Amino acid sequence: MKQIAVNICRLVLAVTFILSGFVKAVDPLGTQYKIEDYLQALGLTSLTGPMGSWGALAVAVVLAAVEFCIGIFLLFAIRRRLSSRLALVIMAVMTPLTLWLALANPISDCGCFGDAIVLTNWQTLWKNVVLLAAAIVVAKWPLQMVRFISESNQWIVINYSAVFILAISGWSLYDRPQFDFRPYHVGSDLRTGWNKMMDGEESPFADFFIERMDDGEDITEQVLNSEGYTFLLVAPYLEKADDSQLDLINQLYEYAQDYGYPFYGLTASGEKAVSQWRDLTGADYPFCQTDGTTLKTIIRSNPGLLLLKDGVVIGKWSHNMLPNEYDLDKPLEESELGRLPGDSVARRILGLLMWFVLPLVLLSIADRLWAWTKWIRKRKDNYNSINKKEVKMRKKIVAGNWKMNMNLQDGIALAKELNETLKAEKPNCGVVICTPFIHLASIAQFLDQNIIGLGAENCADKEKGAFTGEVSAEMVKSTGAQYVILGHSERREYYKETPEILKEKVLLAQKNDLKVIFCIGESLAEREAGKQNEVVKAELEGSVFNLSEEDFRKIVIAYEPIWAIGTGKTATAEQAEEIHAYIRSIIAEKYGQAVADDTTILYGGSCKASNAPELFAKPDIDGGLIGGASLKAADFKGIIDAFK
Ligand code: PEP
Repeated sequence: MKQIAVNICRLVLAVTFILSGFVKAVDPLGTQYKIEDYLQALGLTSLTGPMGSWGALAVAVVLAAVEFCIGIFLLFAIRRRLSSRLALVIMAVMTPLTLWLALANPISDCGCFGDAIVLTNWQTLWKNVVLLAAAIVVAKWPLQMVRFISESNQWIVINYSAVFILAISGWSLYDRPQFDFRPYHVGSDLRTGWNKMMDGEESPFADFFIERMDDGEDITEQVLNSEGYTFLLVAPYLEKADDSQLDLINQLYEYAQDYGYPFYGLTASGEKAVSQWRDLTGADYPFCQTDGTTLKTIIRSNPGLLLLKDGVVIGKWSHNMLPNEYDLDKPLEESELGRLPGDSVARRILGLLMWFVLPLVLLSIADRLWAWTKWIRKRKDNYNSINKKEVKMRKKIVAGNWKMNMNLQDGIALAKELNETLKAEKPNCGVVICTPFIHLASIAQFLDQNIIGLGAENCADKEKGAFTGEVSAEMVKSTGAQYVILGHSERREYYKETPEILKEKVLLAQKNDLKVIFCIGESLAEREAGKQNEVVKAELEGSVFNLSEEDFRKIVIAYEPIWAIGTGKTATAEQAEEIHAYIRSIIAEKYGQAVADDTTILYGGSCKASNAPELFAKPDIDGGLIGGASLKAADFKGIIDAFK
């Protein structure tokens, strides 16, 4: 139920954010005007000057991109925690803002979906309350969102969506909104709409008027009712109009004159701006006054061109995309320009599908197929390996820790005896003996390391240099040894080895290809305070959880409760199993279940031939690290035999 709820909320949010971001990107200037309306309503008129306009436009573009990308991320379940939190932050800001809008009503329409869907302020508030609730649900359980794209491929969707939405904004600014949701869109019958308004019907054309500049006469009716073609050059504010296409505009005017089509300039600017424009451009066409906001609504370009035929808008061009001499070589009656483009919206929707939706759908299908075949293969492998009894078992090890016992001769004698015994009767587990440094080179000479691995009990935390008495990892390795015990409680306690020192030692040991047997475990006081889990977790985090997965896989963990080392007090098999299972679970949390399943975890602390079978029978105990009982071949062999 929880997963279904989260995914419904996530889809509702995703669709809303995508739609909201897209309509804003399609009309960045419209969004800029809306932001300026907000600033005015908030009394921040100082931010609405020329620089403020650029700032508002930049905010409009960024806002559209952010909303759209968050929507796409939620849709595909990309960066689930981050995107759900961002959605929540946005809704947490927008909902109180719309409450204020609903109560104070400073702006009639919030503009959240541009001109595409116009909502009242109260409708917007309820919409936001629903979205806020959805955002809370998704942010609470973000990982319940089902992925539509794998993590390894999500970068494609991230980059593609960001580039796409910025390109849409850029193109809409250069040309004009790719989808026109305003009443003056291509195909709109201004004549009928205006006449209806004049008959008292509600209409979006209430502020549309055309007044001659010289005598102030209202010629709206005359312009809209004139038969045939009429050009309207729309320049809301001539002072700010782009003058890079003056020649083309004059050429268009000459063309209109040649064929007898009326041509009017519409502006909200005064006489002075008009005469400056005439001086600058040599414009001869008549200028008329129209409401500035209406002009900005008619076309998002200053200046832009509108072509009417019998009062119907049949063409709209921004100043960057005006028709040129190749388009103007014949009268409009015979030219493409003079006809209403039949399928422009359908073509644009198709373009959108082809350029954005289709590639992402194909990518998503390919990705899901790939994930599915991977899953099938994995299942098949598991099935095969279970059937063939080939389930990979982690390595079982019995390791001896001689500590500071035995002189060289005695050590060699013990190693030889063990070597002969285990050669004669092969063990069912890995066997390692860790000896004082001084024994290593001699024992390495004769020890069959295919049967008994050789290791040191320590190594230095420095690579080399003036550290009198220390033995480096490289030196250990050079004796022929393969293992090293690190983090033993005796070294932590008597030689004050801190987690940081041990971290260095582990790195150096691994750098020199030594396999680390890393000891962890709690004191009696910590056990009595119930802190054993906390202690072992901190010890792992302090010294080995920094390793990469690949390096961690080379580590053998030895859990040794300090209160059981050399005391004759063994942890019960249940106590040991409990904490071994916990250790495996935190390894799984850190590196994943597969790594945890492959990690060898030894038990150490008064382990003997008598208790080893019960301990080693536990599912999470993979052998032992043996102190006292490793000093006699028979005792040690007795423990190794627990794996028989
Ligand atoms: C040890 O020191 O690693 C150890 C486990 O010692 P013992 O077996 O003697 O308790």
